[in-house]
Amino acid sequence: MSSALTHILSNECPVCHKGKVFKDKNIFLTFGLPKMNEYCSHCNYKFQKEPGYFFGAMYVNYGLTVAQGIATYCVAQFFFDQTFDLRIIPIIAVVITLLTSFNLRFSRLAWIYMFKDYTS
Ligand SMILES: [Zn+2]
Repeated sequence: MSSALTHILSNECPVCHKGKVFKDKNIFLTFGLPKMNEYCSHCNYKFQKEPGYFFGAMYVNYGLTVAQGIATYCVAQFFFDQTFDLRIIPIIAVVITLLTSFNLRFSRLAWIYMFKDYTS
């Protein structure tokens, strides 16, 4: 069974599902700035439609980061006596920092999938 989430997590082209959007093989264990392919190697689909196309992916990235911060808080609070212990904040900061690279790639992929042409 293939769903959009599976294709996004597999770093696949939204049209043919064979080419890769990022030059990295997977989007989970890569660090540094993302290197995107300009076109799909298989179907020649252009990933960046126009300059500034991925500006909106920033909002996806923000939503992801907030959700991960809240989830980290919910898990971390069980390890502290007080409900809101300030020692949780550095833990949240570390988790968010470690997930930055993944979030950047995932948000761009999600953005491409949200705005691909579904009519063809
Ligand atoms: Zn393709």
